[in-house]
Amino acid sequence: MLVFVLIIYFSVCLIVGLYVWLSYHIKKKYLNFILENSITLAEVKKINTQYHFYVLISYDERHTYDNEKFYEAISCADYLIYQLQFTKTKIITEINKAKYNRNHIETYYQEIKKIEHFGYFRREIGKLKKDKLIKMEKELFNKMILRPETLYKVKIQLILTKMSGQFVKRKEQIFLANQIEIFIHDLNQKEGNFFLNKSIWDAICRVERGKVTNKMRFFIYNRDGYRCRRCGKRGDSNNLEIDHILPISKGGKSIVGNLQTLCESCNKLKGTKVIRY
Ligand SMILES: [Zn+2]
Repeated sequence: MLVFVLIIYFSVCLIVGLYVWLSYHIKKKYLNFILENSITLAEVKKINTQYHFYVLISYDERHTYDNEKFYEAISCADYLIYQLQFTKTKIITEINKAKYNRNHIETYYQEIKKIEHFGYFRREIGKLKKDKLIKMEKELFNKMILRPETLYKVKIQLILTKMSGQFVKRKEQIFLANQIEIFIHDLNQKEGNFFLNKSIWDAICRVERGKVTNKMRFFIYNRDGYRCRRCGKRGDSNNLEIDHILPISKGGKSIVGNLQTLCESCNKLKGTKVIRY
């Protein structure tokens, strides 16, 4: 009985193996014939060498907040505007590449359309099946057509985690080139270090303020001994605040050297003055 089962088993394996091997070789034979003899594919190859399309580089951004207040206050647009201060030149280059692709793709497709005829080969097809040849030729044709990106987009993703790094939630938004160009135009309206467009300036300030992570906040409290640097009052994270010595509204940054611990009333008193206590 066992011998009988084994014989059946090996026979089936042999037949399946043979079938796979045969179909692989037949497919290869068809493929080689098409690649060597298809008049249409040779034309596509020729046209492809005459066109140059750009590959676009992505400037998607992803940022993690460990402070829910900042995560809620800062929109994806705010974050993009902030980043554009540093990436705008590179992003404009990508937008222009996409425009170039868009301007040339139509002519390319028109040329391709003109040569879209299948089943014409340089040699007799012999014993090969014509319908199978045409089907595979069409597949190859579709693979060879160039499909450059013609639209530039930037995806911004903001993530909220707990201080431990545990994921809480996220939000994301995709910005198209025309929207990005408006932001860049507004960013370019500057007087010294200040942006003339108020909504741009507000967005940048919100993101800058949000750069004080909870980790940084506790580092500053610790450094200052959990005391207000002005009046010396002791406190904890509920009644102590982090103050920007050079206020954000005056171009101050959220870096350790520009931060100090103040109690709520001393912080109010200081306002937007520049005082290191
Ligand atoms: Zn105080």
